[in-house]
Amino acid sequence: MRVVLMGPPGAGKGTQAEILAGVLGVPHISTGDIFRLNVSKGTPLGVEAKRYMDAGEYVPDGVTNAMVRDRLSHDDCRAGFLLDGYPRTVEQVGELAAMLRSASLSLDAVLELTVDIDEVVGRLVKRAAEQGRSDDTEDVIRRRLEVYFEQTAPLTSMYEKQGLLVRVDGLGSIEEVAGRIGAALAVGAD
Ligand code: AMP
Repeated sequence: MRVVLMGPPGAGKGTQAEILAGVLGVPHISTGDIFRLNVSKGTPLGVEAKRYMDAGEYVPDGVTNAMVRDRLSHDDCRAGFLLDGYPRTVEQVGELAAMLRSASLSLDAVLELTVDIDEVVGRLVKRAAEQGRSDDTEDVIRRRLEVYFEQTAPLTSMYEKQGLLVRVDGLGSIEEVAGRIGAALAVGAD
C-alpha cells in the first residue's frame, strides 16, 4: 500500500506512522526524521534544513522534493511506503503525483489525523521538555502550527476530491488511535 499520513505537529503522526508501517509491512518515511538525521550528522542537507526547522518554517520544496524522490527510488519502497510529513505544500503534492505517475503508481489513501489545537500545543510543550528538540520552543511551536494550517491543512481538500482522504480522530490513547486507523484503512493491527 502507498499511504500518506497528514496532521498537525503534535497529532501523534510519528508514533502512529511507526505502528501503521509495521502493520502494512512498508517503510516509514518521515521527512522530519530524515532532516533531523542529517542535522545530527552535520551534512550539507542538514545544515541547510536546520535554518528553516529552527524557525518553524518549511524547508524549501526543491530540497525536500529531491530528498523524497531519492528515498522513494530505493528498493524497499517497491511494495509500498508510508509517507509521514510529506507532502506539505501544493508543489509537493504535484511533485509526488508526478513521481508516482512516472512509475505508473498511485496512492491508496491519505490519512488525516484530526486533533484539538489546545491538546496539540500541550503535547508539544511536554515533548519539548522531554526531548529538548530545538524546534520545540513555544514561539516555534506556534509558528509551526500556523504554517501547518496555512499551507498544509488546505491540501486535504485536494485529496478529498480524489476520493483518497480518510479522516481519523487523533484524540485518545495510542492504542485507540491505532485501532481507528486500522479500521479506517481496513487493515488489522492485531
Ligand atoms: P516533522 O517532524 O514532520 O514535524 O518535521 C520537522 C520539521 O522538518 C518541519 O517543521 C520542517 O521544518 C521540516 N520538514 C519536514 N517535512 C517537511 C516537508 N515535507 N516540507 C518542508 N519541510 C519539512
